[in-house]
Amino acid sequence: MVEPMHSSTRLEREKWMKDAKFNLFNLKSSQVYIDLLTDSGTGAMSQEQWSAIMSGDESYAGSASFYDLKNTITDLTGFEYVLPTHQGRAAENVLFSVMVKSGDIVPGNAHFDTTKGHIEFRKATAFDCTIDEAADTSIYHPFKGNLDIRKLENILDVYGKDRVPMLIVTVTCNSTGGQPVSMQNLREVREFANKYELPIIFDSARFAENAYFIKEREEGYADKDIREIVREMFSYADGMTMSAKKDGIVNIGGFIALKDEKLYKEASTFNIMFEGYLSYGGMAGRDMAALAQGLRESTTFSFLESRITQVHYLGKLLKDYDIPVQEPFGGHAIFIDALKFIPKVPKEEYVGQTLAIELYLESGVRAVEIGTLLADRDPETRENRYPKLELVRLAIPRRVYTNLHIEYIAAAMKNVYDRRDKITRGYLIMDEAPIMRHFTVELEKAGDSSL
Ligand SMILES: *Cc1c(COP(=O)(O)O)cnc(C)c1O
Repeated sequence: MVEPMHSSTRLEREKWMKDAKFNLFNLKSSQVYIDLLTDSGTGAMSQEQWSAIMSGDESYAGSASFYDLKNTITDLTGFEYVLPTHQGRAAENVLFSVMVKSGDIVPGNAHFDTTKGHIEFRKATAFDCTIDEAADTSIYHPFKGNLDIRKLENILDVYGKDRVPMLIVTVTCNSTGGQPVSMQNLREVREFANKYELPIIFDSARFAENAYFIKEREEGYADKDIREIVREMFSYADGMTMSAKKDGIVNIGGFIALKDEKLYKEASTFNIMFEGYLSYGGMAGRDMAALAQGLRESTTFSFLESRITQVHYLGKLLKDYDIPVQEPFGGHAIFIDALKFIPKVPKEEYVGQTLAIELYLESGVRAVEIGTLLADRDPETRENRYPKLELVRLAIPRRVYTNLHIEYIAAAMKNVYDRRDKITRGYLIMDEAPIMRHFTVELEKAGDSSL
């Protein structure tokens, strides 16, 4: 689909931003010129996907579109048991209803916010076991999504295996900057899990992008087909949750896929309760058909190459302007290191959010903070959790923008960079929700800002 774009003036944006309580989620799409808030559900579907929409089967039970989806997923991943859900967090809700209970410890690599939310909602704890290199944007490491096996060992030593219901491996790792996990690391995590008889669940939103990075960066994979790599990746897991709004290239949808029938049966009960009957789980038949086609498209080298090359083009332009970015560049987004960009803003005034607001005021480009607002408060102490990195994420929707748009984004960021010394104050929270506050938080300017 081709959609209109909406340009605006700085004066208009200043008013809109204030009306939106300095929360970029509160802006209307008509107030945004280029929307990099997320790559989730914002991709453009292909002619084959639109055709699939027209021929979708809307039978309540056993629809052909469900079997098309299920067979595609089984082909790609090897998992026999598939439960559709309305999106990724719904898959987490259903699966964690079976697997996670109060007091549990769930280790993983920088859990995504909804994943952590669903763990903490059940009074369990998510432990981040990502390698230390991930937190330093200036170090080159080809797989900054990797898990540190020593950190996993340590958690098992401290808490014992009875409190650990599973390991979660996020591919690619969104929260560290769309960074991939290597096949070698997946293998090591599998060995570790076998030792303690723990199941591994992949949080798989960008599994195809992860496979592309393995092909490009890991020894022994250059000549392998993307689908072969995908199949090997999932051979090290017991199941997956999927937000199909990412590498499924659909506007809404998700699923759970599992190796084990018993777990599938247990999850089925919750799927019927929360999502819908087993062969649609919150999705229309048409949407399942479009998703099946989207999965076939996203697991091709030509698609992944054009997508990731475009994302890296933005990264290179920013780097050429000396703007501090997470390296190597991620799969779906470029992440700006806000602590290095505007070091004078106090951490109590939300550095990442401050930079995202500046970019919007400058250009109408909407990005998102991946920093203290997102990290939220400690559930016990209610103090802010200050993450090691304050990032601004520029997420690129699939098949939507041209490289001319990419150049506009880079130029806008450079304009902000040129006046960075004048940005010394940030924002203070006026109102926030008890969990996942970043979506609805209301802010006001702290002290004298640069405006
Ligand atoms: C988007 C995402 C989710 C949640 O999926 P939704 O479809 O937004 O509910 C979970 N994990 C990761 C890694 C994601 O990127």
